[in-house]
Amino acid sequence: MSDFINLALRRNILYPCNEIYPNSPAGFYDYGPTGVKIRNNIVEFWRKELVEKLGAIEIDGCQILPQQVFKASGHLEGFFDPVVRCTKCGTSYRVDKLLEKFNVVVGEKTELEELDKLIINNNVKCEKCKSRLDKSFRFNMMYKVNIGIGEGNPGYLRPEACQNIFLDFVRIYKGSRRNLPLPIAQIGKAFRNEIAPRNATIRGREFTQMDIEVFFDPDKINDFSIKEIEDIELPVCLLGGKKEQEFFKIKDLQKKGLMKFGVEVYYIAKEYEFFTKLGFLPKEMRYKEVSPEDRPFYSLATWDFEVFTEELGWVELVANNYRTDHDLKGHQLGSKSSLEITSEEKKVLPHIFEISMGTDRILYTLLSNRLEGLNEKAVLKLNEPIMPYHMGVFPLVNKDGIDELGEQVFNELTRKRFRTLYDDKGSIGKRYARIDEIGVRYAITIDYQTKEDNTVTIRDSWNTTQERLPIKDLTKYFEEKLYK
Ligand SMILES: [Zn+2]
Repeated sequence: MSDFINLALRRNILYPCNEIYPNSPAGFYDYGPTGVKIRNNIVEFWRKELVEKLGAIEIDGCQILPQQVFKASGHLEGFFDPVVRCTKCGTSYRVDKLLEKFNVVVGEKTELEELDKLIINNNVKCEKCKSRLDKSFRFNMMYKVNIGIGEGNPGYLRPEACQNIFLDFVRIYKGSRRNLPLPIAQIGKAFRNEIAPRNATIRGREFTQMDIEVFFDPDKINDFSIKEIEDIELPVCLLGGKKEQEFFKIKDLQKKGLMKFGVEVYYIAKEYEFFTKLGFLPKEMRYKEVSPEDRPFYSLATWDFEVFTEELGWVELVANNYRTDHDLKGHQLGSKSSLEITSEEKKVLPHIFEISMGTDRILYTLLSNRLEGLNEKAVLKLNEPIMPYHMGVFPLVNKDGIDELGEQVFNELTRKRFRTLYDDKGSIGKRYARIDEIGVRYAITIDYQTKEDNTVTIRDSWNTTQERLPIKDLTKYFEEKLYK
């Protein structure tokens, strides 16, 4: 078990759904009280640093959509993974993932016959019982549901959150009193019947996506000013370039034609700023250029944003796709409604640049990369916006007026809008260890001396230093420490 999962279970950050029953299906995880706090903070930070700053409009769409939507989007025909079953024990595997273990990388569009050949040539067997594998086949990962009584009216749990944005676009655009480019954002659940869910929330069957779909006029694809961001050094992994990552200034990527379109340069730079502020280090991030064979067929440019973790290697957190007019065209055809809009006195069927983030993967990789030390001495070092609480208030004992002083300090800090936790149980050492592990930076201890001179001890979990301060100076002290 990884250090992070160990911690996540111990401190109720996340844990398997339905764990009290035997044989619960894999791929479903619940967030506990601490996990929810941290996840909400990540979402709020996304809203503040990306949605608002990009001038995006946020919507919240339904999770069940009728079949016609997925017929038009291509999911009904094309949302398949190649699968292979063991001839003896019946265990199923995703062929591409199985072949990866033999250092064979296959594209998304590789034919089934070709996959079968690779399985035989590399002598790939069932991992469980070592028996022969059957012929590969394609499996649709969408969850089908019935809408209303009977089976005549099928719907699907959306396998990606973005479709609602495409369906709602014309209405939103008209009501927005805005012009193109118009970014529309949505956070919500999506569902995929993964064949081999693994690594907890990294590949789950139910997950949360934070999407921003930018609608723009294709004639103005390069009309994005990068003045403010042109000197940002972006870690990239180019096709035919170095293996891990190399750093290029934004303006050089554009000048050298390594990122072709103004729209992608602009939004990728903004996204990179977001992840830097969130707490990832440049050396553990990269934008991987995806080859034409491996990107979605409609995409003219795809950059996967990936984060390196010791445990899992490079993990994809964001898909950045230039989706062209694929989506609006498809839904226009399927619905027979015109999805053209009027922009600057001409009719436009906008193109879309997509920034689709996996919220659960962001939380998992951020926490596992910011977790330092082990066991009794583990410290989770989260940036201020992401900390579940800024501080914990700990009365040394629950008597002699120490508890009342503790409550006073707690109430005062809460009133000043610090996220504050109160804990009066167990030894101070255990209370420290708990907040160290869930990403709470400061501990305030109230003891007998507090009664004498109104001072408290403040401990910084990042370096375990302690200092003594009058209660009246706490607000100023924390404002400087947390927000400067
Ligand atoms: Zn088997």
